[in-house]
Amino acid sequence: MPSSQRFQAIQTILDRPPVDGKEPLGLEELWASDVFSLAAMKSALPKAVFKSLQRTITRGGKLDTSVADVVAQAMKAWATSRGALYYAHVFYPLTNLTAEKHDGFIAPQGDGTVISEFTGKLLVQGEPDGSSFPNGGIRSTFEARGYTAWDVTSPAYLMQTPNGITLCIPTVFVSWTGEALDKKTPLLRSNAAMDQQARRLLQLLGETEIAPVNSSCGAEQEYFLVDAAFTALRPDLQLAGRTLFGAAPAKGQQFDDHYFGAIPERVQVFMQDVEEQLYRLGIPAKTRHNEVAPGQFEIAPFHEAANVATDHQQLIMTVLKATAKKHGLTCLLHEKPFAGVNGSGKHVNWSIGNSSQGNLLDPGSTPHDNLQFLLFCGAVIRGVHRFGPLMRAAIATASNDHRLGANEAPPAIISVYLGSQLEDVFSQISSGTLEGSAKAALMSLGVDTLPDLNKDPGDRNRTSPFAFTGNRFEFRAVGSGQSVAGPLVVLNTIMADSIQWISDQLEDQLNSGAPLEEAAFAVLKRTMDDHGAVVFGGDGYSTEWHEMAVKERGLENLRTTADALPVLQRADIRDLFERTGVLSPVELESRYEVYAEQYTLAIEVEAKLVLRIARTQIYPVVTAALKHLASSLKAQEALGLTADQSVARTMASLNQALLQQCDALESALAATPHDLQPHLAHCAGTLLPLMNAVRAAADGLEGMVDDNLWPLPTYQEMLFMR
Ligand code: ADP
Ligand code: MG
Repeated sequence: MPSSQRFQAIQTILDRPPVDGKEPLGLEELWASDVFSLAAMKSALPKAVFKSLQRTITRGGKLDTSVADVVAQAMKAWATSRGALYYAHVFYPLTNLTAEKHDGFIAPQGDGTVISEFTGKLLVQGEPDGSSFPNGGIRSTFEARGYTAWDVTSPAYLMQTPNGITLCIPTVFVSWTGEALDKKTPLLRSNAAMDQQARRLLQLLGETEIAPVNSSCGAEQEYFLVDAAFTALRPDLQLAGRTLFGAAPAKGQQFDDHYFGAIPERVQVFMQDVEEQLYRLGIPAKTRHNEVAPGQFEIAPFHEAANVATDHQQLIMTVLKATAKKHGLTCLLHEKPFAGVNGSGKHVNWSIGNSSQGNLLDPGSTPHDNLQFLLFCGAVIRGVHRFGPLMRAAIATASNDHRLGANEAPPAIISVYLGSQLEDVFSQISSGTLEGSAKAALMSLGVDTLPDLNKDPGDRNRTSPFAFTGNRFEFRAVGSGQSVAGPLVVLNTIMADSIQWISDQLEDQLNSGAPLEEAAFAVLKRTMDDHGAVVFGGDGYSTEWHEMAVKERGLENLRTTADALPVLQRADIRDLFERTGVLSPVELESRYEVYAEQYTLAIEVEAKLVLRIARTQIYPVVTAALKHLASSLKAQEALGLTADQSVARTMASLNQALLQQCDALESALAATPHDLQPHLAHCAGTLLPLMNAVRAAADGLEGMVDDNLWPLPTYQEMLFMR
């Protein structure tokens, strides 16, 4: 009896009709057509109202309540004219997901008729029942009130689904006692803290016209696509988002023939559909390509203000998943869906800047005489050195642990890569004399008809978790399924702290009469003396680095989430967040609890899945195969043939091992420690190794059992059939 379901799935895929690409719509027609953008507001609002709103958006400050009513009317008119019957306050709870509560515009009247209604009050504040969202003990369930409040800096938009059109309003989500229950509130606060300090430093540097400083983010999203017919047969992909079983295919990514290769036609049609929706939502999707692993792809929007980019990043994940479904595919955002195959990350490109001074992390062509850049870059170096473990904690999830530190993704040790030009400039600073910058060069290709290329002054380094890439830093260790809010909060907050430290020093120097350049140089020298150990330009994958980083440089190697999350409980971290006003001690503690619980839950769900699949799908199939094999061997012996029993013996012993490891895993699951920290360690140190042991037996069996019987779609099928 062949595994009919698996072969049916393959047949379904082979029978899929050829994909039909739609004629793409023009960019102008699509662009932000579903966004209540500044332009849309300008044409819909009275001039004074628009001015007041615009001021709040670009300059900060409170929104005038009388303005809210007028905006609400205009927003409702705009949304209902496009067919929206509902509006939703969209918020970002401490999961990596997006939550929304839908309310109808409908308002029943006493006489049995209805009108549509939407007021400033409804726009500005909502009250979803917050009790079911993770809050880490901030509220008891009997005090479940939670409020959402409109974030004017992120535009409202229409979400079109087969079930209708909804006006979506980005909001923050706080408890009845005012504590942040979401990811947006601390992001906005961290930006404000950074802005305040950055302006102070610019002032010390002699600037007089200083616009608000904002952080920017461009996030490169990697993902896998697997045919939905296969996902339906993989309980692990459905519930855990990754394969818990599966032997390595004969061909993996060794040939590097997928990276930047021609995008398969079916995937191109999918991408075009995704991009069309993103353009409607005003999300500037810019690059797309195949990634390293077979079946892996990337989409990267152009960078935007960090808060807007974060909301857009959440929408990108939502649109990718929903659109994949529509195309008979499953989009996997897990960091490591396939063992032994490259995982997925989300490179978070981050910078800070404003409209008066521009990008503050732009070195220009002669960075050695660009004091402004050197000081802001020095602040980054100090921040990463002081708070690298916090950056590690901000990317700590059960799923990202499978990717970090392997030979494909940055190590868990957080260091800074500057590139050869800047590394040279900063080592000149360390040695006390600053003479010049290596120049960017032209590179001749040796063929007259080809143009000379501009050669960047520094190469790239793929092995660094945090790399300078020309005019921004790229945080490469962020997981593909994560919200970018957490990492951005940490970057902005450590930046606020470090700029303050630098400004304090600079002010001292200036007060004691040093001229600006000399004062700045002294501060930079001190920065490098105290914090230069975090700068590393070599191979981050090498074992030498792992040793040197810890032993000589004093950097921490927090290998797993169980090691990294407790960083959130350290006194200096509590102090950092409290001092900058980004998270109160209660808010920080609640995050530790929520993230720790998410980690243990994720691993325990996987462990249960491992047991279920091994016992009910793999063991029975192997037993049946063994029975068949045994009777065949017996029949051969009856004929006087010499029958080789070795395959049957190996299979039987692997099957035995499978059961034994399952029993061990089950006992370990039952022996969960009560306290949080030992619980984390139990998941990382006991459950995961036992799950791997079950898997090792199962994957061994996959290579022996009759392929016709194997119940789970194989790596080869999932990675290569599309
Ligand atoms: P890579 O070469 O790293 O794969 P991509 O072109 O795929 O680069 O993505 C680079 C990302 O960095 C884009 O989202 C881009 O808009 C973003 N980016 C560029 N400049 C900045 C900046 N100053 N701040 C934040 N992000 C930026
Ligand atoms: Mg890229």
